[in-house]
This record gives sequence, C-alpha cells and structure tokens, in this order.
Amino acid sequence: MDETVRYTYRLRPGATARAALLAEWGRCRWLWNEAVHQYKTGRRPTLGKLSKLLTEARARSSWLRDGSQVAQQQTLRTYALALQHSFRVKGRGRPRVKRLKGTLPSLEYTRRGFSIRDQRLRLPGGVTIPVVWSRELPPDPTSVRVYQDSLGHWYASFVVRRQATPAPDVAGAIGIDWGVTTTATTTDPTYDLPYLGHRKRCAAELAKLQRRMARRRRLRGVTPSKGYLRAKRQAAKVAKKAARQNTHDARVWAKKIVDNHATIAIEDFKPKFLAKSRMARKAADAAIGAAKRELVDRGRRAGRKVVLVPPAYTTMTCSQCGTRAKHRLGLDIRVFRCDTCGHTACRDRNAARTILATAERDRAGADDVRHAITSFRNGGRVRSEPEIPRLPAMGRR
Ligand SMILES: [Zn+2]
Repeated sequence: MDETVRYTYRLRPGATARAALLAEWGRCRWLWNEAVHQYKTGRRPTLGKLSKLLTEARARSSWLRDGSQVAQQQTLRTYALALQHSFRVKGRGRPRVKRLKGTLPSLEYTRRGFSIRDQRLRLPGGVTIPVVWSRELPPDPTSVRVYQDSLGHWYASFVVRRQATPAPDVAGAIGIDWGVTTTATTTDPTYDLPYLGHRKRCAAELAKLQRRMARRRRLRGVTPSKGYLRAKRQAAKVAKKAARQNTHDARVWAKKIVDNHATIAIEDFKPKFLAKSRMARKAADAAIGAAKRELVDRGRRAGRKVVLVPPAYTTMTCSQCGTRAKHRLGLDIRVFRCDTCGHTACRDRNAARTILATAERDRAGADDVRHAITSFRNGGRVRSEPEIPRLPAMGRR
C-alpha cells in the first residue's frame, strides 16, 4: 500500500536567494489578493478563468513575467482549493487578503518547477539553495513547499509517495481519555501520556522577554528599535521550542500506542470545551488536539482500527457493569465509585475503559457509521477524517 507523506528540511538560503524568494512571494501574494478581489467584486472566476487572466497579465507585465509561472499557477490552484473548502468544510471561511505584515511567505512548486542537483534545491530563475539533509529524501518527490516560519527560518517540505511500511501484527486494544491533570489516560497505565508542562517550564523566561519587549516598544508607526526586535525574536524562539517539544512527545507516544495495539478507541475530544474553562492555559500547554491528530493519523496509516467515541457520559458510566450514574461527577472528584456494583477506579482510568468498552460493544454500529460517512462523501461533501468511524453519542442509544 502507498502513502503520501511530507519530508521537511531546513534551508540555508544566502542573501541573493532570500531576496529572490521574497520577491517571488510578493508576486504570488499579489495574485492571491487579486483573486480575492475578483471574488469580492462579484466576478467569481473559476480556476480556468483565473489561469487565463494570469496568462494575459504575464503578457502585459514584465514584473509578473520575471517570476516563476509554476509558483504563480500553484498560488491560483491553492486559492481555488481554499475557496472550494470554504463551501464544503465546516468552520472554514472564504479566502482572505494576505497582508504584507500578517502573512508568512509560502511558495509551492510542482515537479516542473524544481529540481535537486549537487545537494541543492534549484528553483526557477537560477535560484539555488543549500539544504540541511537531516534524513534521506526518497526519490521522486512530486512537489515542494518552500516557506518561512515566524523565526525567519526557511524550510522545504517535499511531498513524497512512498511504500507504506507494514505495522507489526498485534492484537491488543486500548482506550484513551484526554484530560488536564494527565494529558492522556489509557486503559493500560504504562501507556499514559503525563502532563509535561513544556510551556509552563519556560513561562518565566518568556515573561522576562515579553517585559523587555514592553520596555522597548515605541509608538505606533515609529520604526521599532533593534533591542525590541531582538527581544521579540528571542520570545518567539522560546515559544517555538516548547511547541516543538510537545510535537516530539506526541509523536513518540503515538508511535508506541500504534505499534502495540490493533484497536484504538479515542475520546472525541473537543478543545473548545476546555478553552472556555479555568484550565484553558494548562489544556493549551498540553496540546491535546495535536496529540489526538497525531494518533489518529498514525493509526490510520498503520491500518489500525481507530474509533472516535463521543465524550458524553464516559466519566459517569461504570466500565464494569455499564450503569450510568444519576449525577455528573464534579471535576474535583478523582475516584469513580459505582452505586450498582460497587466498582471503584481512578476517574480517568474508568473513563478510558468505558471508551474502549463502547467502541468494542458498538462494532456493528461503528461499521454502520462508516458506511453512512462513505455515502456522505460520495454526495460531494468533504470531511476532514472520512475514514474514521464515529460512534453515535451514548445518550442517544
Ligand atoms: Zn458498576
């Protein structure tokens, strides 16, 4: 079986290459904004019409002609896709104007537009950029995205179709409950993901840098001082480091889960709920959403049975006898006690077991849902996770 993945590398462009990349980004940004403007003024051009307009504009303007046609065409393609998604994907807004100050450069090249020679990435217009080859890139990447992050570092992200490595054959099943005290509590304590507090650890350092920024801030419209820019960069670096540590931990943990279990039942966590609570800061620090995405993605790629279980009633249902308690468990009550069979367990552990039990009991139901989603997809709708069966909420059964 094949899978499509991204391989990302750090780029080390020189001053000339950096200027060329930024000039290219300027042209592509102008094109994007032009497309947004056309839509807003009611002309609603299709991708074909936009491409035709691009050809005409390139014939007229030498400024556009100086740029790569591949990058410009890809910009329009990305715009058309974003517009399409804004109608079909829930919560996605219409494509908006990309402002010079508020958007980070991002350029896309298909096979026609880039090559790799002498260990360097070659882009149209004679731009060659040294790449930090931190791991081997499989042959024949189909496209590349060249982008700059908030720290000013440049990266190249190659899209590669590769042979999927078969996951080890295992039988186990695991249930996962997300939380704030422990990021992920599972049915098996050895697989728990503890709250690591990467952002909390560097909070003092970050606050110090933010105070430094505040001291050196100048009035609106005045060029910021060098000291201010330096402090801003350092603050961004600290925040980025914590985010990367979170991503790394989530990857290691998800790999361990996926390697050792055939069935993975995951609480269908809604980050919005915690973001409104008193625990918002800690919940954001734990980056539960990122860990969930990583687990779902890895599980699906490995061909595991991944089931998303709605979180309703999981904490108040006994994992031993299946009885639902009459009253909601307060957040301060850490131990679950069943009134019917007398079973006691740690609150989160019980929830994880209930999640797994629900997924296993509703196997038939889950398949039904999968079918429902398939036909839904054939109806022309796009879903972010179409292959993942979602169980109906427990309350409705
Ligand atoms: Zn019970």
